[in-house]
Amino acid sequence: MNDSGMADEDISLNVLDIRRGTTVDGPGFRTSIYLSGCNHRCPGCHNPDSWPFDGGVSMTLAEIMDVVREEEFNVTITGGDPLYQPEKIKKIVDAVTAEGLTVWIYTGFTWDEIQADPTKMEAVAHAEAVVEGRFIMNLRDPDLPFRGSTNQRIVFPGRI
Ligand code: SF4
Repeated sequence: MNDSGMADEDISLNVLDIRRGTTVDGPGFRTSIYLSGCNHRCPGCHNPDSWPFDGGVSMTLAEIMDVVREEEFNVTITGGDPLYQPEKIKKIVDAVTAEGLTVWIYTGFTWDEIQADPTKMEAVAHAEAVVEGRFIMNLRDPDLPFRGSTNQRIVFPGRI
C-alpha cells in the first residue's frame, strides 16, 4: 500500500475535470469526476470535447482519491462515458465506497447493454445509481432531474 491507502498497483485515467460541490449530477453536494472518452457521438451532446480518449490530464486513482477526500462528498463518475473502461471504473467505485461514500455513474450505454457485458456489470454493481442511455435530442427535457432526455433512466443496481 502507498501513503494514499491505495494498492501499489495503481491505475491511471484521463480526467477532463473534477468539480467539487456540484448539485446537478445526482442528489446533494457531490464531487463529479469527468473522464475523457466517448464513442456514442449523440447528436446534440453537451460536451463533444469529451469524446477523445486521450483528452484531459492523466491522473492516478490515488491522486483522484486525494481530491475526493478533500470534501468527503458523494461521488459522480461521468464524462465522456466511463463505461468504455469498466475495469478502471470498478476500481474507482471500490475505492470510493471503501471511504463510506456512494457513487452515481453516468453512461450512454443502456441498462440492457450493461447487463449483457459482465465487465460493465461488475463496474456498476456497487454504484448507488446508474444514469443510463444515449442523449436523444428530440427527447430533451431540461426539467428532468439529473438527466438530459426522457429515454434516459436512473437505475439502482442494489435494488434489482
Ligand atoms: S453518451 Fe454523453 S458524452 Fe457520449 S456522446 Fe452521448 S451525450 Fe455525449
